[in-house]
Amino acid sequence: MNASVVEKLDFPSLREKVSAEEWDTRVQLAAAYRLTHRYGWATTLIYNHISARVPGSEEHFLLNPFGLRYDEVTASNLVKIDLDGNILDDTPYGINEAGYCIHSAIHAAMPDRHCVFHTHTEAGMAVSSLERGLMFTNQDALMFYGNTAYHDFEGIALDLDERERLVADLGDKMVMILKNHGLLVTGRTIGEAFTLMFFLEKVCGAQLAMMAAGGEVIEPSDEVKRRTAAQYKLSSNVCGGREWPALLRELDTVDTSYRT
Ligand SMILES: [Zn+2]
Repeated sequence: MNASVVEKLDFPSLREKVSAEEWDTRVQLAAAYRLTHRYGWATTLIYNHISARVPGSEEHFLLNPFGLRYDEVTASNLVKIDLDGNILDDTPYGINEAGYCIHSAIHAAMPDRHCVFHTHTEAGMAVSSLERGLMFTNQDALMFYGNTAYHDFEGIALDLDERERLVADLGDKMVMILKNHGLLVTGRTIGEAFTLMFFLEKVCGAQLAMMAAGGEVIEPSDEVKRRTAAQYKLSSNVCGGREWPALLRELDTVDTSYRT
């Protein structure tokens, strides 16, 4: 699974070689990478990963070609792998092993989570290193109240045994803060995962700004927290239905090469 050095960027289109459903997923996942770059969350060079399950398949999912920047990802150069990490495409690219470990764990255990999104942003890493974790002191943060899991740091996720603990810690939550590491979001769609990551990233940044300001913190009551979280209906309502088409329109105004 180790990638060799990537020197070749041009890659033949897979559009006619895969199902219409897989192609659509490839286009959307490539868009998620491009938007992640555009929003400044691709903060660890070629590392980190966003994955999406191939429609109609329990066991196949798509991951970024290891060695490419997020702004180089296209629908065709995404790498299809199975839950055992075997690369299923005829591709010169490899995948990141830690990415395989984290993403295969969740795709295998949670068939309704079709997209898994992991970042190492400054805000995410900072909140992941705080004993108190994510604070629920503003409206947007309360979207995640009662829906945020934590996973202890064990080193770079290369030990496949960690998959069991990742899944156990995530439970039925939508997002998980990987302690001393970064953020992980799951989505029932790619649009949902991206939208949740947008808000999680934003509230992590807001928390750091609040903590840096140093004043006394106003914290809503537990009752208000519960009520606000219930209003978001994160568990029952798939979010991103309006946001994701808007984000694709944004991307299409600047660069449509992700669709190739
Ligand atoms: Zn990571």
